[in-house]
Amino acid sequence: MPTNQNRSSQDRDRIELRGIRATGAIGVLAEEQERAQPFEVDIDIELDASLAGRSDDLEHTVDYGQAVSIATKIVETGGVLLLEKVATIIAHEILGLARVRAATVTVKKLRPPLPHDLTSTAVRVRREQADQFLTDRASTTAYVAMGTNLGDRQANLRFAAAMLPGIAALSGIYETDPVGGPDQDPYLNQVARLETMLTPFELLERCLAIEAAAGRERGIRWGPRTLDLDVLLWGDAAIESATLTVPHPRMWERRFVLEPLSELAPELLPEDWNERLPRGGIKRIADAEQ
Ligand code: ADP
Ligand code: MG
Repeated sequence: MPTNQNRSSQDRDRIELRGIRATGAIGVLAEEQERAQPFEVDIDIELDASLAGRSDDLEHTVDYGQAVSIATKIVETGGVLLLEKVATIIAHEILGLARVRAATVTVKKLRPPLPHDLTSTAVRVRREQADQFLTDRASTTAYVAMGTNLGDRQANLRFAAAMLPGIAALSGIYETDPVGGPDQDPYLNQVARLETMLTPFELLERCLAIEAAAGRERGIRWGPRTLDLDVLLWGDAAIESATLTVPHPRMWERRFVLEPLSELAPELLPEDWNERLPRGGIKRIADAEQ
């Protein structure tokens, strides 16, 4: 898959959003905290646009609209003294959107309250995905759940295992009754352990790209799918953003996730999981193909 992951930041694909206007009570002077003033925000989003460039699919790029509403909302909320702080909050929120590798945010105050003749003052910050999840380890242990109930299910699992980066172990394969959603055929489920250098957001992005490459079409929620890849755990990170929640919020209620996961990492599961979850509707049908 062509990717620009290793290119330097100057060469990366980017989305440029210019002149987002909003008013907010931001500044160190009392009058600035009392009365909203005009601001203009510019945003550069660095991303890998190669997938969207080929697929022409909105799901494969960054949601610009969401980025603009994030910036507008944060300025309008106000209550902050420094432009540095506003720009940093906006950049961190934008890093929470899927597929964003880095965000450069410029916040410009259009009428600075200074006794001099100047047009504007501005602060620009650049934040990278990696800044949030920098660790001193070479790699992080992550777990990904795989599910499939359309087409050649075993082949779909093999495809996922071949495409996921840094696979260190695979659980056995389980055949399971569908949970939730419409009437549909049984699933095959399996869990993979990865040793990965990717950040959680990059890993999610990779999972969505692999689902798309397997021909997944997004129809009804919890409807039949050729491939579903869910990031269960990434080290001990706890993430709640618009596009990614880790640990996966529904994993603790799903026997089709916990049973395969218990083969790889029993120590990560609550002690009573096996007694607590309803039994049945699940059968181990094969060892992992190594
Ligand atoms: P589900 O897996 O619940 O059936 P989808 O596979 O359609 O639903 O996922 C929809 C969205 O869930 C993804 O686009 C992704 O942004 C979001 N999501 C949030 N947290 C996670 C996670 N931990 N793993 C995978 N997707 C996640
Ligand atoms: Mg999913």
